[in-house]
Amino acid sequence: MDFLRPASWEEALAAKAEHPTAVPIAGGTDVMVEINFDHRRPEYLLDLNRIELLREWEVGEENVRLGASVPYTRIMESLRAELPGLALASHTVASPQIRNRGGVGGNLGTASPAGDAHPALLAAGAEVEVESVRGSRFIPIDEFYTGVKRNALQPDELIKTVHIKKADGPQQYSKVGTRNAMVIAVCAFGLALHPETRTVRTGIGSAAPTPIRAKEAEAFLNAALEEGGFWDNGKIITPSIAKQFADLCSGAANPIDDVRGTAKYRRHAVGIMARRQLGWTWEQYRGAGRTLEGAA
Ligand SMILES: Cc1cc2nc3c(=O)[nH]c(=O)nc-3n(C[C@H](O)[C@H](O)[C@H](O)COP(=O)(O)OP(=O)(O)OC[C@H]3O[C@@H](n4cnc5c(N)ncnc54)[C@H](O)[C@@H]3O)c2cc1C
Repeated sequence: MDFLRPASWEEALAAKAEHPTAVPIAGGTDVMVEINFDHRRPEYLLDLNRIELLREWEVGEENVRLGASVPYTRIMESLRAELPGLALASHTVASPQIRNRGGVGGNLGTASPAGDAHPALLAAGAEVEVESVRGSRFIPIDEFYTGVKRNALQPDELIKTVHIKKADGPQQYSKVGTRNAMVIAVCAFGLALHPETRTVRTGIGSAAPTPIRAKEAEAFLNAALEEGGFWDNGKIITPSIAKQFADLCSGAANPIDDVRGTAKYRRHAVGIMARRQLGWTWEQYRGAGRTLEGAA
């Protein structure tokens, strides 16, 4: 196995163009497990750790530009106000050691349906900026996941930055597991309220072949909130609306039975998380005088 160590982004793109089968390695918390278990024996490893720009982030007017290799710990420490859903999701990843190494670029690279960043990215609204020597392109997060552990990257492309919409309202993330830490999600759910556009977005993890949004549930809730004037009057969401939303989230899931849980349990748990998160985020929205301050 050859180890390629580009010193710059341009060198990394050139190396990936020359060796499209080279496996990029960032934190290595997925790649090294696969190599250690002999699930993968790539001809080339492409080490991205000397590339400073992948570890940088920038808070813009509407978006956060998150370098692919920014570790979860940095997101939790420095981007909690701008990306509350992703910060909560980061908290649930593994252990402090893994969170110091692993990042969103690696989670996207692996594209496991159980990856914790995905529901938060789907709910917040994100675009993945990928680049090759041929140029760069932006992939909407909904189009990034193409199958079980498959993504929309071409063999010569690398993930450069994830552009995530800054929170304009409360966000939540929760995950069901067999214990509180070091656990792969049995299923997970993320919710973001977007008062600016009067919309709600969701993300479901570990309950379908890919991370997904519950689009029917979003459309139902958006219409119900608009119809009832909820965004303006800040009234408590009625139990029947909350139940219908939860049922539609549950219905959007397309899980399997596996060692971590049954399909039936996952569907049920997605509904519970959806209803709870709607209650929590809506309370935050009401309590904050319907401004962003309450989301932090
Ligand atoms: C003990 C343990 C517990 C874990 N628990 C969790 C958990 O609770 N939740 C969770 O979501 N994950 C968990 N993971 C998995 C892992 O930590 C995450 O998926 C993490 O986000 C991977 O990031 P990384 O930088 O380490 O990726 P790496 O291992 O370096 O790479 C992962 C994949 O992404 C590709 N890649 C990396 N960077 C780029 C790039 N810039 N462009 C293109 N491709 C790229 C790699 O080639 C590889 O295919 C756990 C792992 C371990 C070992």
